[in-house]
Amino acid sequence: MNDIFEPLKGLLPERYLNRECLQRFRYDDILFYRLKKDLKGYPRGTVFWQGGMLHGFQRIKRILNLAEGIRRHFPGRFYLEEKMDGYNVRIKRINSRLFAFTRGGFVCPFTMDRLDELVRVEFFDRYPDYTLCGEVVGPENPYNSEPVDYIDEDIMFFAFDIKDREGRSLPLTDRYSIFRETGIQAVRRWGPYTSSDIDMIKSVITELDQQGREGVVIKSADSEIELKYVTLGSCIRDIKATAALFPELPGGFYMQRLIRILAIVDEFGIKLDEETKLTILDSLLGPMMKTIEHLRRGDQLKEFFRIRVNRKETIDALIRHLKSIGMNARVVSVERAGRHYLVTFYRIYTRGARIMRKRLTGQGFYD
Ligand code: ATP
Ligand code: MG
Repeated sequence: MNDIFEPLKGLLPERYLNRECLQRFRYDDILFYRLKKDLKGYPRGTVFWQGGMLHGFQRIKRILNLAEGIRRHFPGRFYLEEKMDGYNVRIKRINSRLFAFTRGGFVCPFTMDRLDELVRVEFFDRYPDYTLCGEVVGPENPYNSEPVDYIDEDIMFFAFDIKDREGRSLPLTDRYSIFRETGIQAVRRWGPYTSSDIDMIKSVITELDQQGREGVVIKSADSEIELKYVTLGSCIRDIKATAALFPELPGGFYMQRLIRILAIVDEFGIKLDEETKLTILDSLLGPMMKTIEHLRRGDQLKEFFRIRVNRKETIDALIRHLKSIGMNARVVSVERAGRHYLVTFYRIYTRGARIMRKRLTGQGFYD
């Protein structure tokens, strides 16, 4: 065992106490250890510190066919919750201070800067041992640059889970009543339903799609089963939002979304006419073509972000944090905007861009 993992003795089996499984980092005066991969009983993103731990957020299975998926998995009652498209945050009080952890188990300096504007911190006076889990959503966040139809600027937090001291999710209805009682903004929900309500459920999905929303997470009333299902529009937006970065993304990313689209078209009896096919293809080829032109001209491959922060120090801390998770980012401008600083920065993608640029200038390669 490496010395730096000494404080975790007794918290985790000794065979896991090494750099392959764990990464140590400091935030303010606390030393944290995050789990870099799934281990038996502990998901990736689980965090440890002297005297405590926080479980990683559970993975959620996807279904491609709504009616069949529901029939197969939900013998009893269930709810639909809106699936919000942002980034996952787990908020926990440690030594009387609130910490916001990302899915990977890092403390996010940006979320920390904005935390008391995002949630009612009184939640933690009432329930000091609970972890509040939710999605930070909005066009101005440092991880997703795509526009959000229903939020003009900045970010919001929407809660969808509460974990107890042992890391177990509270029963759904307990979560719902605590959200109500503490005034925590939660994701929208519908139900309870049973599998015979499929027509009503389908119309919720259609409405969500019309509103430009991502989809739903279907949760059994006994809180045992969770499944995600997304809308047609969200698949097309995903493609459109990422196609410019195609040199960096595996081809499978796009193929998966095309398969989701086809499953929806098939189940909802949507006609895959020429216009629909062209819209889908255009969402892919349009941004890809722009990237090809950029790279051929020798430009860098960049993705722009804008965020609002309270403290100037946050900007540096965020750029360092992004670097530590393998993202190369540079600040373009910082201006005052009301009580916040409005920060523009971009991420630079070098690896895939370099390969593609060489190919565009004649390099031969095996494929
Ligand atoms: P996974 O590892 O579970 O496959 P992912 O990182 O690929 O997830 P998504 O496809 O976005 O992410 O789906 C799961 C995520 O959806 C959750 O981690 C959570 O952050 C987010 N989410 C949004 N709304 C909800 C909700 N109502 N209930 C549960 N999760 C939600
Ligand atoms: Mg998501």
